[in-house]
Parts: sequence; C-alpha cells; structure tokens
Amino acid sequence: MNASTPYTSERPLHVAVIGSGPSGIYAAEALLKQGATPDGIPAEVDVYDRLPTPYGLVRYGVAPDHLKIKSVTALFFKVLSNPGARFLGNVELGKDLSVDDLKAHYDAIIYTVGASADRRLGVPGEDLAGSLSATEFVAWYNGHPDAAAREMVLHASGVAVVGAGNVALDVSRILAKTATELHSSDIAPHALSALETSPVSDVYLLARRGPAQAKFTTKELREFGELSDADVLVRPEEIALSDAEYDAISDNTVRKNVDVLREFAARVPRGLPRRVHLRFLVSPTELQDDGQGRVGAVRIERNRLDDSGNAVGTGEYEELPVQMVLRSVGYKGVALPGVPFDDKRGVIPNEQGRVVGGQGEYTSGWIKRGPSGVIGTNKADSVETVASLLADVPHLTPAPQPTRQSIDALLASRNVDVVSLSDYQALEAHELAGGEAAGRPRLKVAQLAQMLDVIRAGR
Ligand code: NAP
Repeated sequence: MNASTPYTSERPLHVAVIGSGPSGIYAAEALLKQGATPDGIPAEVDVYDRLPTPYGLVRYGVAPDHLKIKSVTALFFKVLSNPGARFLGNVELGKDLSVDDLKAHYDAIIYTVGASADRRLGVPGEDLAGSLSATEFVAWYNGHPDAAAREMVLHASGVAVVGAGNVALDVSRILAKTATELHSSDIAPHALSALETSPVSDVYLLARRGPAQAKFTTKELREFGELSDADVLVRPEEIALSDAEYDAISDNTVRKNVDVLREFAARVPRGLPRRVHLRFLVSPTELQDDGQGRVGAVRIERNRLDDSGNAVGTGEYEELPVQMVLRSVGYKGVALPGVPFDDKRGVIPNEQGRVVGGQGEYTSGWIKRGPSGVIGTNKADSVETVASLLADVPHLTPAPQPTRQSIDALLASRNVDVVSLSDYQALEAHELAGGEAAGRPRLKVAQLAQMLDVIRAGR
C-alpha cells in the first residue's frame, strides 16, 4: 500500500466520474487498474450519466452502420461491472446533484461530459428551416432522447453538408444509403422509416480547403466508392495538386485520401439514382430562402489557399439547389453548473486534467481537450488525468461522507430514479430482442419515458 495516502481498502478513494462516455469509462478503468496493484491506491468509482444509458458517443455519436467500432462497449461494460465501479444513470449534475453535493461524498470528481453543442457557420440564412447542425441530425438518427421527439421532415432532394471531417462523411453516407443498406445498421427505427421514403438525390459535401487539408480518415472516405445506389463525384480540378505538392505530403492518411479522391475523380458515373458530390475549395456564403422560410438554395464561393494554407474567397460564386443544409464544422463543449469554463475554447480550463480554479476536480475527453481524436484517443487522455489525480492524493480534502450508502440516501431523498448497470442491461436485452425479431442488430428505444418504462418493468 502507498504510505503517502490516507486511503485504504476500508476507506477507499471515492471518486465521481460525470459522464459515462469513452473518456469517463477510461478514467474509471485507470483508477481501478492502479487500485488493484500492490502499490496502488484502493479506489471506488461512481460513473454518472444524465441519460439512463452508458457509453455516450459510442451509443449516440458513432455512425449506426459502423457496428464494429461499437464493439468497444464490451470492454466498457467490463469496467462498469467491476465491483469497484457503479453506473448511476438518469442523474443530472445541476438538477439532481450539485458540485457541492459531490464534494460532500467524493474525494475527487472527474468531469467527462464531452462536447454536445455545435459550431455555427456565421452566414446569412443559417436559421432558416431546413438548416441544422450535423450534431442534431446525428442525435436524431442515433435515437438520442433529446432529439427523438424532433420532427425531421426529409423532403429535400438536395442536401449540403458543410465540413470535411469524419462527421460530415458520416451524415453524407447515411443520407446516401438505401433503406436496405441501413437495415443492417442500428439506426433508430424512426430514422429508418423517415430515410426509407427520403427523396434525396444529391448530397454535396462542401470542404472549404483542399483534399490535403481535409480532416477525414481514408477508411471512411473509401466507403463512398461502395454505395449501392449512389455515384461518388469528384471534380479533378478541385483536387488538383502538382507533383511537387503531392510529393511534399508527409502525412500518410492525407496521401491515401488524395489517392482515393483521384480514383473517384477518374470514375465514370454509373448513372445511379443518387449522387454524392465531394466538393473542395468552396464555402457557403448564404443560405437562400425559398420564399416560405425554408432553405431553397445555398450560394457558395470558390476558394483558393493562401500561403498559410487558409481558405480565401475568389469572388466566384455558384448556387446549389438544396433544401437542407447540415453544418458539420465541429462540436463545442457546454458549461456545467458550478464548474469553471473557458467559453472561448468550449472546454473546462485544465492543466494535465486538473481543473484550473477547481478543488479536487479533474477533467478528461472532449470537454478537456476539445472535440478531436477517435475513441481510443480518450484512453491516453484519461490516463494522464488520473495520473494527475493520483499525484494530488496527499493534498486532496477527504470527503466528509465518502460512502455509496450516503450518496444513495441523498438521491433517494430527492426521488431520483437512479438507473443501475443491471437496469440498463434490461433495456439492452429489450432492444436486442426487438432487433432479433425485426432481423436487425437492435431496435433502439429513443424516448426517455419509454426507456424508463422498460427499465422499471425489468426490475
Ligand atoms: P473535425 O474533424 O474537426 O472537422 C471539422 C471540419 O469542419 C474541418 O474540415 C474544418 O475545416 C471544417 N470547418 C470548420 N469551420 C468551418 C467553416 N466555418 N466553414 C467550413 N468548414 C469549416 O470535426 P468532426 O467531423 O466534427 O469530428 C470530430 C472528431 O470526431 C474528429 O476527431 C473525428 O475524427 C472524430 N470522428 C471519428 C469518426 C471515425 O473514426 N469513424 C467518426 C466521426 C467523428 P478546416 O480544417 O478548414 O478548419
């Protein structure tokens, strides 16, 4: 046992993790792993989520047709089912519990709430009906309870997706896939029905810079070459690079992206009913009103790159006939009540995960570093934060009521219907059984009330 710590197996370090997405679960894993070593600090971790479901963006962000990526939930489940961990779903910081409540029951808190808001384009017409963020669209098709009630009218034949990251690729691909292709995904049933009858024929992905500056990864880009009902169209002049420019590409992913785009540009279109236009060096400058308060077209300006690689408008414009615009230009963190926040960067200010201006407070994941990286990136990020926390252990103020019973009693006194891991398993079993009956991987329950009904019926 570490001599410089007051924490023992009888009185373990009691930690609250706020947010059960990848960064939260990796933080819990790191704490429990070190606690199991001879020199480790025994720790007990409660992982909270405002939703009744764990796994954050793995359930609500990862594309429904990328089921392999979601298999990481088996590992996450293992972490949450460790005797040193608990999942407390349906508990919201700021509503059911305050930071002061947490400090009364936990020696340390780790905020891992991700980045749930979106960035805006800042162009006229952005608030017209039919203009929305990819964040909202992704939440809708992935059955996020906040978006499930949204009436998504998919009447558009043309859709512009602004941005050149993996999220832009995800939403473009989902729009271009047929119902048959989507059937084998875990897309929410309401979204599958809506997309089944969607009249979309043309999806325009609009990248403001060139192919060498795009943020997407090659595997995701290649998928556009394999769509059953959609041609992928790339204009050779928009991806043109001189031999010297091509040879100067040092990043392997960028080089492979350029190779894939060149192959797409060389294809002869098959005349399929749908088309995905991957456009480069263009920026939307205005979303135009169709006369009824809806998007009727988007005006785009051709760009060139300046010496620093930034997009600069050329004064050449074009109009695209779209009735829907999805901005996919990055996520943004949202402040938590009672927790320091850097509004400009959309993150909790921190040094190696230590919250600046906080006491016994730490952070990890997108709310710590901004919305970047893949699921695995959060592992190293959370390991860094937990290392900071463990280094601080001699200086932490031990919580006055550091037990599971005391926090449970407080939540019960406030009539909070805490969803446990086994409660969630009942919901999951329900979803999987529904999926089996429908010949699909799962039928996601998207309405919060219905989720809680299924859970209560399983108790
Ligand atoms: P992202 O990778 O940061 O891409 C954002 C894109 O928006 C960039 O191309 C950026 O272009 C563009 N952009 C920003 N402001 C703009 C503006 N005003 N006008 C036009 N374009 C603008 O963000 P993301 O796609 O939201 O993805 C977030 C993270 O999740 C990324 O790390 C991503 O790799 C990850 N993710 C991974 C997967 C996967 O592995 N399958 C799937 C989804 C998401 P500039 O470069 O010019 O700024």
